[in-house]
Amino acid sequence: MQEQTAPARILVVDDEPLIRAQLSEALVRSGFQTSQVVDGESALEAVKRLRPDCVILDVLMPRLDGYMVCRALKADPETAHIPVLLLTALHRKEDLLQGLGAGAEDFLRKPFDLQELLARVEAQLRVKQRHDAVAKERNDLKALLEVSQAVSSTLRSRDIFQIIVRETARIIPSTRCSLVLIADDPRYGFVLASHDDAAVDRLKIQLVKYPEVQEAIRTKAPVLIDDAHTHPLMDSVREQVRGIPLTSIYVLPVILRNQVIGTLFLRTAKALHLHSPRELKLCQVISDLAATALHNAHTYESLEVNVAHLEQLTLLDDLTGLPNRRFLRRRLEEEFTRAQRHRSPLACVLFDLDDFKQVNDRWGHARGDEVLQQVAKLLQGNVRGSDVVARFGGEEFVVLLPMTDEAGALAEARRICHVLRTHPLPGAPRGISLSASAGVGVFPGPEIRTAEDLLYQADRALYRAKETHKGDATLAAPAPPA
Ligand SMILES: [Mg+2]
Repeated sequence: MQEQTAPARILVVDDEPLIRAQLSEALVRSGFQTSQVVDGESALEAVKRLRPDCVILDVLMPRLDGYMVCRALKADPETAHIPVLLLTALHRKEDLLQGLGAGAEDFLRKPFDLQELLARVEAQLRVKQRHDAVAKERNDLKALLEVSQAVSSTLRSRDIFQIIVRETARIIPSTRCSLVLIADDPRYGFVLASHDDAAVDRLKIQLVKYPEVQEAIRTKAPVLIDDAHTHPLMDSVREQVRGIPLTSIYVLPVILRNQVIGTLFLRTAKALHLHSPRELKLCQVISDLAATALHNAHTYESLEVNVAHLEQLTLLDDLTGLPNRRFLRRRLEEEFTRAQRHRSPLACVLFDLDDFKQVNDRWGHARGDEVLQQVAKLLQGNVRGSDVVARFGGEEFVVLLPMTDEAGALAEARRICHVLRTHPLPGAPRGISLSASAGVGVFPGPEIRTAEDLLYQADRALYRAKETHKGDATLAAPAPPA
């Protein structure tokens, strides 16, 4: 926000030293700030560098004359809005028309009357001021639009916070603009985004070091510290802010349902003037948008956690707690893709408990379920950490063995079958014992192009095991003679 009291800056361009001196003196006496240059080239450079509020431009100058300079300024969108007052010793109508044709706002004949000159400069400055106000309003509205679009978008909340601080800093030029989340514990805040540092993410801060933030939380009202080095509110942190190039601080509480859920924190190196109702209104709108963003983020993220939790539940088997078929298919796809990418083997072993119907029929379903739970534990206790055990359904279980070739997988499957076969079932009626047959499928292998093919291969092998190797494991096709 520009200081209201700053004097307007006028650039005087004339090749005659006397005229430059006269003009400057009169302008300074009337309260303007002036700079002087002696030719067209330096005029163009000075306008770019100084961004004056008005240019008084001599027409007749060596090399680049006033018309050419004026045309160049008006052709550049960055400088086109700066009013140009042509100063000309030419009195012909064509010359004046040429000046206006070059885009000059006004002209004055030499020798000029100082009163008239000042009046014309002031008129141009009023136009410029209106223009600046409109440009600023457009800038503010654009920023607000960006923020409101971001808030209602599907962007990640981190990106939304980033847009909020970036656009707020555009409306209120600041050296730092951050969005701080005020959590349940009133001692801490979390910096969610800071426009001068994109890496900031949930940075925990102790609020005792920010009395101005605490004040905004306490009063639920904006806090403006015009000079942080002298303001009494900053007494407790005077030492800490000593070295910081900092003048004003503005803290805007972000309020939702009468509770401060965050603050927008602005720090500026120049004194802030936030007095106009329009500026205060803008800040209010931004803070409301930030409240919506924080609220949405909270709702969405807790929703996301719930969905993740729910999804987890639907991926686990109720009885055994093992991953279920759905989860297995997902893991199988992942492992298969990995095996393809790394050209490493992947084995899939499908276990099926033998004659399990008998267990249920003769011993009851409750005991049958217990047996299934024991089998799940045995399987889990007999595989490596990188292996995946899942309940495929009923009395079928799958073990995925990454980085395991045909020989290794067959040996492993047979070992597990042995463990199951020799596991005692205390209290089981006569004729009931535990055993499982297993089919082994291994990638890479003939006819295995997809994860589904691998599972199918294991299923075919299981079928063969049931026929010829009950209680033990086989491959889909007989192993070649050793
Ligand atoms: Mg001249």
